This record gives sequence, structure tokens and C-alpha cells, in this order.
Amino acid sequence: MIFDVDRETLPREDLEALQLTRLRNLCERVYANVPHYRRRFDEAGISPADIRKLSDLKYLPFTEKQDLRNNYPYGLFAVPKENIVRLHASSGTTGKATVVGYTKRDLDNWAEMMARAFAAAGVSRRDLIHNAYGYGLFTGGLGAHYGAERLGATVIPVSGGGTKRQVQLLRDFGATVICCTPSYALYLHEASLEAGIDMRELPLRAGVFGAEPWSEEMRAEIEQKLGISAVNIYGLSEIMGPGVAIECADAKSGMHIFEDHFLPEIIDPVTGEQLPYGETGELVITTLTKEGIPLVRYRTRDITSLDRTPCSCGRTHMRMRRITGRSDDMLIIRGVNVFPQQIEAIIIEAEGTSPHYQIVVTRDGNLDNIEVQIEVSGDFFSDAIKNLQRREARIQKTIKEFLGVTAKVRLVEPRTIQRSEGKAKRVVDLREVNP
Ligand code: AMP
Ligand code: ZN
Repeated sequence: MIFDVDRETLPREDLEALQLTRLRNLCERVYANVPHYRRRFDEAGISPADIRKLSDLKYLPFTEKQDLRNNYPYGLFAVPKENIVRLHASSGTTGKATVVGYTKRDLDNWAEMMARAFAAAGVSRRDLIHNAYGYGLFTGGLGAHYGAERLGATVIPVSGGGTKRQVQLLRDFGATVICCTPSYALYLHEASLEAGIDMRELPLRAGVFGAEPWSEEMRAEIEQKLGISAVNIYGLSEIMGPGVAIECADAKSGMHIFEDHFLPEIIDPVTGEQLPYGETGELVITTLTKEGIPLVRYRTRDITSLDRTPCSCGRTHMRMRRITGRSDDMLIIRGVNVFPQQIEAIIIEAEGTSPHYQIVVTRDGNLDNIEVQIEVSGDFFSDAIKNLQRREARIQKTIKEFLGVTAKVRLVEPRTIQRSEGKAKRVVDLREVNP
């Protein structure tokens, strides 16, 4: 179902006209109300009136996470503080947290975007949503919560943690939809097996997973183990929270970005130049309607590409491909660029390995070393050492072949890699500590 047919299927021409009006209004608002932007615009020799067409976007200055940190906590807010009705903070995946504020209208739009997202995922008001995203400063829990209510579904505000209990609730309440990080979905599956519950036999039929990178292989694994249809949802607190983009259940091929509110571009992360549609680079988003903390050309650091081809679902909003990594998450191992997701894809393909893994990076003199620790399933671990070593060598060879790096692969016992109730920690980089 399309939640807002008028807006989500707007012909491109009308959509762009709306975007331009909103972009011009945004420039005026930030120039008038945020000293940081006034300074940046002045330095770039640009005034809001210079923005006459959408392609003028490229003249506007970027906003970086560092700008939010420099203006911590409220320096980039564009409305008087009494108009802010809620604060959230980023989970601090990459350093110090940043604070974002929402006006009433921002919260209203957010609920609307999340309701659109659920509808795109095939969720309806008849569904029961087990919301295991963390409630609190992190945007996931409350973001999904109000979207579910806006849609008219029944939301179960479970939040993160208490995994054993979550499994029981899933069984007892009979949720039909689950929201959490993809890694947590697999953790829940493990816990359900221990409790003697087969998730495939529960009423659960769909999952809305995001907040961390995952791969197509991991989707297949989750769908098979939980007996559900899994879609990918994208968002970040600086831009709003979950519900910036979502895959439609029809095509499950790229996430529609709600373009009437968010203006996306792809840039070369090194030069900052805009790249043509279809090319892979860093996603940059301009918030078109946000009032509390509107952001101009925010550099997300997320690596993806944009697809403007029509989608079978009828939505006209362009799609972003699955995030393949973050430009600040990219590991450079002896000169080769490696993203954790590339390694994940290889691991999941290998027989007997589980999607629980960690990449440990160390430096020995001037040389970077990576060790990939992967859990194997119980049956495989009881194998003869010789067999384990053979498996390790095989995965090592595949990584070398596909990614061009030499990684030490170590198969470890089930349950040795730490589980996360939120975002999984995939990379342990010991290089800074031990240079
Ligand atoms: P936060 O603001 O703390 O919620 O973190 C937002 C970040 O989480 C994004 O910039 C992405 O790096 C990551 N993220 C969110 N959703 C996804 C997704 N579906 N796939 C990959 N990464 C995601
Ligand atoms: Zn679609």
C-alpha cells in the first residue's frame, strides 16, 4: 500500500518544483536564523536568492558531523528553544554524540515518513509491531513507534534488551512484524532456539531492519531463519531518524528516499564533486522541511548510489542502493580499501559459518594486519582441527581473491563474539591505540 499516494507518486517535474520551492525557503531560513550558515554562505559568496534552480544546490556549502560537534549542543538550531519539543542524540557510532531537536511539525512529519515506510514494507493497520529498536536518545525506538501509531497498527514498545523475554513476547503476543537491527534479529533467533521456539512457526511475517549496514546474504539468512520477508530501512539522527528511505516490499531493490522532504546527492568523498546518478560515492542529504535543525548538504559518510529508474511499486521517489560502507568506516589495509560488508558477504556464503563476526585490525611495524574472527555453528566446531584449518584457509583464499587483501581467518566457538542489542560492532581497530 502507498500511504500518501499524492506525494509518493508525484511526477518528477512536480516533485522537482516542490523541492526547489522548499530548498529556497530552507536557504532563507538557515541564513536568517543560524549564524553558522550565514557565515558559511558569506564565505562561499552565495546568498539564498542565488538559488534559482535545483542544480544550484552544488554551490551551497556542505555540513559535516564536525559542524554539529563544533556547535554542540544547540548552535545549529534554527528556531527559538521553546519551539523545540524533543531532543535526540546520535548513538555516537563514530565518536562524540551530536544533538538534534524537533519542533511539533518535525515530529509530525517524522511520524508521517515512518508511516509511509511501514506501508511500503507491506505493513498495515491490522499488524502487530514488535518494536525492538532502543527507546531513548537513539532515534530508532520512538521513530518507529510514532510511525506505527500513525499508520494505525498496534505497536508493542519492547525496546532493546531482555532478549529471553523478547522471545516469549513474540510468541505470546503474536506480533506479525518486527523492527530491530538485522544483527539483533539473528540474536533473537538464537535465543528462540534455546527456548525451544521455532520463529518460523510464529505469526511473524515481516521485518523492518536497519540502523546498521547489512548484506543481501544476511537478508537471505534472516528471511530463512525467521520465516519472514525482510526489508531495509535507512535513516540517521542528524537528518531525522529512521524513515529517510525504505525498500518497498514490491521490488525489494533499493530504498525509496522520501524526496519531498529530503534532497539526495552523491559526491566523490575525496573531491566533494557531485557524481552522476548511478555512480557510487558518499550520500549527501539536504533536509527540505525540517525546522528544528535543518541541514544543508549534510555529508552522511554513507557510501551508496542513486537510482532514478521507475520502480514496479509506482513510487516516483528515487532509490538508494544498500549502503556498502561508510567513508570513515573504510579500512585501508596495506593500500587496499576494504569495507566490512564485503567481508560479511564472503563469510555468510561459506558453509558452517554464522553471521557473527568481528574484524580486528592491528599494526605490526608499518604493516596493517587484519584478523577476521568468525563463529562457526556447533557441529562444525566439533570437527577435527584439520578440517577447521582447511575451512579457515578456504575463506582466507576467497577474501584474497575477491578483495585483494590477506586476512588471517580464525574460526571461533559459537557464542564467543559479543552480541549487541543495538548496532553490532564489526570492526575493532587497535591501530590508534598501538601505533
Ligand atoms: P544514528 O544517527 O546513530 O542512528 O546512525 C545513523 C547511521 O547508521 C547512518 O549514517 C548509517 O551509517 C547507519 N545506518 C542506518 N540505517 C542503515 C541501513 N539500513 N544500512 C546501513 N547503514 C545504516
Ligand atoms: Zn518501489
